[in-house]
Amino acid sequence: MLGRWSQKRHALDEPFPDEWRALLSERVVHWNMLDDAEREQLEDLIRVFLADKRWESAHRFALTDTHKVCISAMACLLLLGLDYDYFHKVKWIQVHPTTVILQGTRATGVQGVVTDSPFPILGEADYEGPVVIAWDSARESATHPERGHNVVYHEFAHKLDMADGLVDGTPPLSDRAETQRWIDVCTREYEALRDGRGGPILDPYGGVNPGEFFAVATELFFDRPIDMQAQKLELYDCLAGFYQQDPAERERRAHARR
Ligand SMILES: [Zn+2]
Repeated sequence: MLGRWSQKRHALDEPFPDEWRALLSERVVHWNMLDDAEREQLEDLIRVFLADKRWESAHRFALTDTHKVCISAMACLLLLGLDYDYFHKVKWIQVHPTTVILQGTRATGVQGVVTDSPFPILGEADYEGPVVIAWDSARESATHPERGHNVVYHEFAHKLDMADGLVDGTPPLSDRAETQRWIDVCTREYEALRDGRGGPILDPYGGVNPGEFFAVATELFFDRPIDMQAQKLELYDCLAGFYQQDPAERERRAHARR
């Protein structure tokens, strides 16, 4: 069976538009950190991704190429070292203008306690559902990586986690040794975070469950890689092994070029 990449290769027939380059250079900080080979690869990924995935707007949001290209660039940055089919659980992307308010009964995290009060979220990635993104949050994240939060990296990390059919904070890894190391390091860091010993850099939200831990760690890995490497070296190395990327080195290189 042909992979999605082969099926959508025709998207590469047209050149990457110059106005998209200008847009990404202005709106997505990480775009400017890439070297020429990485940028070329990301341009290919963006075009195939745009052709491959369904896009939907919510709350009458006027969804344009600007939104789609910026979101695609951030989503596909996660794929630079991975096979395109790692996104096979991404069926469609639903873009909201701003924070999404969920209604309905849900668990609070405290055992046995449920609530039906409105619940604001910036994004969501259900197993069979869309990736939900609040555009205002995505836009802010793209220009402020120093804050360490990026709703696009977060939600698409959930989809990578799901690629092996399980939502357990462990994406598909190459072999048993890598899997064992991942489990050892992530379990230790996750438990430390839950016990309030996670240190200042990891968002406590990562302590909700192992899936959230991986999503939160991914945000940090791409947004504040130098700090993460300095404070959480083993966790950084696990993520670098999975993503096949070294964003700390990329950031140092980008700073040196200035
Ligand atoms: Zn999450």
